[in-house]
Amino acid sequence: MMCIYCDKQVKEGGINRFKAHLAGQKGQVEACKKVPADVQYQMKQLLEQFEKNKKRKAQLMSKTPKLKNLWNKSWTRFWKQCADIVKLTKPLFRVLRIVYSENKPAMGFLYQAMYKAREKMVRRF
Ligand SMILES: [Zn+2]
Repeated sequence: MMCIYCDKQVKEGGINRFKAHLAGQKGQVEACKKVPADVQYQMKQLLEQFEKNKKRKAQLMSKTPKLKNLWNKSWTRFWKQCADIVKLTKPLFRVLRIVYSENKPAMGFLYQAMYKAREKMVRRF
């Protein structure tokens, strides 16, 4: 990349090194001697923004494991709740299936099934 103001070649480091050249940032690259003041100011702003974004990104990344953990925890809890609901409803469904089947309409049998279902539900918790 060649500077449009001083014709200096900025070979390595890409666009940010070039911005540093225009912004007159010390250390990384030689400052541009011919860049207009307003361009220099804009470049400085851009570089500051870039640094801020980099920091924000790093902060976000450092927070990600916590978020991931929280996500996993809530997910696990959700599945546990699902399993509990299935545990609760499975014996009940068995009773209902007996109720809706026309083969065994005997009430005594139904009571027995309900009793068994209740026993199973109690045992599962
Ligand atoms: Zn220059």
